[in-house]
Amino acid sequence: MSEAAELKSWISTHKDDIFANDAVGTGCFSYSPGEIIWAVTKRCNLKCKHCSISEVDPEELSTEEGFGLIEEAAKFGPVKFGFTGGEPLLRDDIYELIEYAASFDMQVVMATNGTLITNEVAKRLKKAGLERAAMSIDGIGRAHDAFRGVPGAFKDMLRGMKACEEEGLAVQIFTTVTRDNYREIPKIIKFVDESGLWRIYLIYLIAVGRGKAISDACLSRAENMAFFDYTVNKQKEVNTWLKPICNPQYWAYLKAKGLVDRDDGTEFTGCTAGITRFHIFPNGDVTPCAYLPAKAGNIRQSHFLDIVRNSEMFKALRARSLKGQCATCKYKRICGGCRSRAYAFSGDYLGEDPVCGLWDKEQ
Ligand code: SF4
Ligand code: SF4
Repeated sequence: MSEAAELKSWISTHKDDIFANDAVGTGCFSYSPGEIIWAVTKRCNLKCKHCSISEVDPEELSTEEGFGLIEEAAKFGPVKFGFTGGEPLLRDDIYELIEYAASFDMQVVMATNGTLITNEVAKRLKKAGLERAAMSIDGIGRAHDAFRGVPGAFKDMLRGMKACEEEGLAVQIFTTVTRDNYREIPKIIKFVDESGLWRIYLIYLIAVGRGKAISDACLSRAENMAFFDYTVNKQKEVNTWLKPICNPQYWAYLKAKGLVDRDDGTEFTGCTAGITRFHIFPNGDVTPCAYLPAKAGNIRQSHFLDIVRNSEMFKALRARSLKGQCATCKYKRICGGCRSRAYAFSGDYLGEDPVCGLWDKEQ
């Protein structure tokens, strides 16, 4: 049996556990058959307060190593292959890498700060085969600039967003939700909705990388539950899809509220880290998630697929061998807690999610 056929067979055997259906598509609550995200560089032209990767290690995979990774990722089937950073547009070979990824049966996407995108850049990205670009907004105008550490970042991001739209490249928005920018959230949602963008990811601040220095800005358990209440009510008013990210218990919350039901075809699988979602750091380290810097292996030493199949970390995550309240929770299967948040708080990626407001109420 070829390696690809063997992998397909392996996936087929485990599909009920790892690829349960999902009503929404991607993010922290399942995507079939999966997402492979490569942070191509740690370099960046901004200095965001919450950046999950530091700039200590300048090591980057070469173009050839990137091609090898893309070939292995394509063996998963029609996965989503994402480029991120740092700022991925700082790599000279980024168009070549996108083009190569797009030559396989994968959706090719990119997370960028948007500030380097002109019409010419957007045209090249589209021509190379990029399907979507995600850009970040953490405040409106100067509030965004302050968060991102560079004056003019908001204006430049808007130019990039407009250029993508003009060149027919879909844009979605990432927003980090913290105590510091909480008052900006309604303004951001209004802006995104009025701009006609279809999706906004509202991302809980995971205190890793540079974000460790602002861990006091993380929402508390009570604040996070209030944020869920706000989000679900706000959803009724806007067309853009509001998706809390790094918060798999949002789906358990919706279920507890009777807002989603197994019978309506909606079933969530919770945190996908190390299950259907894999992250590759610039130096080749493979981890379960961008916000979970615990290494399962390195693609310079082992094949990516071997790491995915054989790493003890990924086996434990697939088995949901969780601890604390997540271990016995009735929502374990559809939530599983944010493994990155557990790791950031306790150093144990199998530990309980410390910002869950559902367990006490429901068990
Ligand atoms: S670890 Fe957290 S951020 Fe990563 S996929 Fe799971 S829920 Fe999402
Ligand atoms: S206890 Fe853990 S598994 Fe249960 S809802 Fe909370 S975070 Fe999710």
